[in-house]
Amino acid sequence: MIDQLKSSIRDVPDFPKKGILFKDITTLCKDPAMFNRMVDLLGHRYIGQKIDLVVGIEARGFIVGAALAYKIGAGVVLVRKPGKLPHKTHKTSYSLEYGTDSLEIHQDAIQPGQNIIIADDLLATGGTAAAVAGLVTQMGGNIVECAFIVELEELNGRDKLAPNQVFSLIKY
Ligand code: AMP
Repeated sequence: MIDQLKSSIRDVPDFPKKGILFKDITTLCKDPAMFNRMVDLLGHRYIGQKIDLVVGIEARGFIVGAALAYKIGAGVVLVRKPGKLPHKTHKTSYSLEYGTDSLEIHQDAIQPGQNIIIADDLLATGGTAAAVAGLVTQMGGNIVECAFIVELEELNGRDKLAPNQVFSLIKY
């Protein structure tokens, strides 16, 4: 099952810059059987766990997050690039290979004590997910797990997140 899912992901060398092997999930998403399987596999992990919200990270995390939230009967919250969310936001900045990046969440998106899954397509160095986890924790959310379709294990992204709070379907 996982092998088929894995082979539905396209490798794009040297995107967005030389030396990066981009794991393109658009080929998984456009295949109805594969998309279904991905959502079912993630969903079965959390059904019955009383998850209140799935926090999706712009932009591919919206696809994973919204589908997962629907599957498990949770709400969905958007974490977006600066200036995109219309109401009052909390902001987090984090380091990239060169420079920094920022993400925002609505201040009223999470209530203290809510059980949260953070969702994105891929875990690489973990900087993005760790920044979002910091926002969620500051707002009083209880992070149950960070869920990814793909994890690039050699980059040790899970070390930036709390132990036992990372789940990925496919590992490279
Ligand atoms: P990181 O903060 O290093 O864990 O990077 C994770 C974010 O960057 C995710 O939102 C991914 O969509 C994207 N990303 C990083 N590396 C790759 C890659 N090799 N293939 C596809 N997406 C990537």
